[in-house]
Parts: sequence; C-alpha cells; structure tokens
Amino acid sequence: MKIIDAHIHFSRIESFIHTANEITFLDYSGKGLEKEFSEAGITAAIGMGLTEQEAWGFPDTTSPNPMGLDLESSVPPLVACCLGINPVMLEQNGASELEKIEGEIARHDVMGIKIYAGYYPYYVYDKVYHPVYKLAEKHNLTVVIHGGATYSDRALLKYSHPLAVDELAVEFRSVNFVIAHLGDPWVMDTAGVVYKNPNVFADLSGFLVAADSKIESMRKNRLIMDHFMQALEYTELYNKFLFGSDWPLAPVKPYIEFVKDIVPEEHHEDVFFRNAINVFPRLGDFLETIASTT
Ligand SMILES: [Zn+2]
Repeated sequence: MKIIDAHIHFSRIESFIHTANEITFLDYSGKGLEKEFSEAGITAAIGMGLTEQEAWGFPDTTSPNPMGLDLESSVPPLVACCLGINPVMLEQNGASELEKIEGEIARHDVMGIKIYAGYYPYYVYDKVYHPVYKLAEKHNLTVVIHGGATYSDRALLKYSHPLAVDELAVEFRSVNFVIAHLGDPWVMDTAGVVYKNPNVFADLSGFLVAADSKIESMRKNRLIMDHFMQALEYTELYNKFLFGSDWPLAPVKPYIEFVKDIVPEEHHEDVFFRNAINVFPRLGDFLETIASTT
C-alpha cells in the first residue's frame, strides 16, 4: 500500500529535537527521515511550517511569515509544505506580511496553510486570519488547523477547541479545512464538525508521543483505542480522515500500525493515500513532480 503522511514536522524546534532524542529515539534529520519513510512505504509527506527565533521559543511571536521547514538547508524531495502563519506579525504588519505569504504560494511544494490555534491566542475565525483564508480560496490551498491538546503549556486550549472550526467552515465554504489530531481529546466534537460540514476533514496524527514499545502496548489498551474509533465510527465518513504521524513525535512505522488498528481495513486505501489527494488539491501535481525526478 502506498502511503501519504499528511502531517509531519521538519523545523528546528527545540522541543521536537528534545523529543526525538529523549522520548521517541529517532534520527530527526533529512537522512533519518528518508530512511524511516522509505522503510515504511511513504511516498510523500506534508510538513507543517513552523519556526522559532530562539530555543524553546515556540509559539514565538516574532517569527516572520510564512513559517517554513528550516531543520536543514534543504528539505527532502518527498516533503511538501503547509506555510505556517504567525498571526501576531500579521496583525502588526498586515499588507507586507501578506505579500510575503503570497510570494511563496507559487512554489510547487506548497499544499496549504497551517494555523496554530491554541499556540497563538486567536480563534480561527478571528478577522486577523481572513486575508489568509482568501488567499487559500484564490490559490486552491488547504488550511490545516491545530486542534485539541497542545505541545506547549504556554498555549491556551480554548482557542484550539474543534468547535471553533464550525463557524469558519460556514463562512469559507469553498476552502478545505483539516482539523489536526482529530482535535484530541475532543474527538467527538471534531466528529460532529466533520460530519456536518462537507469542507471539514481531520488528520489522525499526534495521538501518541511515544517510542515504539510504548505504542505497541497502547495498541492493546481498549480504552485508548475505543476513544478514537468511536469518533470515526460516529461519522461513518472514512473519506474524510487522513493518515498523519506528527513525526518526529512518533516513529512512523509503529504509528502506521497503530492507525491501521483504528481504521477498518476496507478504508485503509482511502485514509492512508487517496483522501489526502482529494483534500489537498495541489498534491496530485506534487506527486507527479517527485515521481518524475526520482
Ligand atoms: Zn504537528
């Protein structure tokens, strides 16, 4: 089975480097990514743009727009990108920030926009983001929104609750929105928003920040598995969920096995591959480009 990993990271963020070294025990580098992803059968991945200006700084209010993938001087060719938005800078400098974002959009590896709800203290429907959603509308970009629990205790959870996406989805009907992490722990709330809105989807990344052996034991924990399965089953819409690993916050192959346990087998092809192509309109062209150059 071919796999697209719709949510990974490739940014120089101190908490990710620390997690890779101390918790998930993996090689967080281009070389490490290429080895791990080829062993897992991943043909393409989408990196969520993110930067910090000083170690442990994220969510950093001074990061320039758009935030990209800055772990190394170049990004592995199989990795596409969602441009990360810093709303604080956008609010301060408006037009010039927007110009910088629009300037990057023509790149063949740009699939969408990433909004860090919760990390930055703005609701996703806040006016500050409207010009960005209009850009998404104009350029066929998908908007990925952080949902649920945050990886920083400086964040505010009220902004990352998935219910806020409902209002946004109704206002921008022609934009595809992806709620990251199924909005965990509010997975049933996410299910409600996904079920109701044809333009809202969810990725299944980041449920566990754990090494191989811990993932293995969690797969045997019925309460953990039921929590996620219930939300998917409620919608019965397996065309609306996308595989993502949140690498380096989990080793990719064990995480694939974990998600396979949550998703009924007849929907694996959709969740692990096809849905991503439907949800990210630019992904088909990107896949063709990387296939022709490798
Ligand atoms: Zn992530």
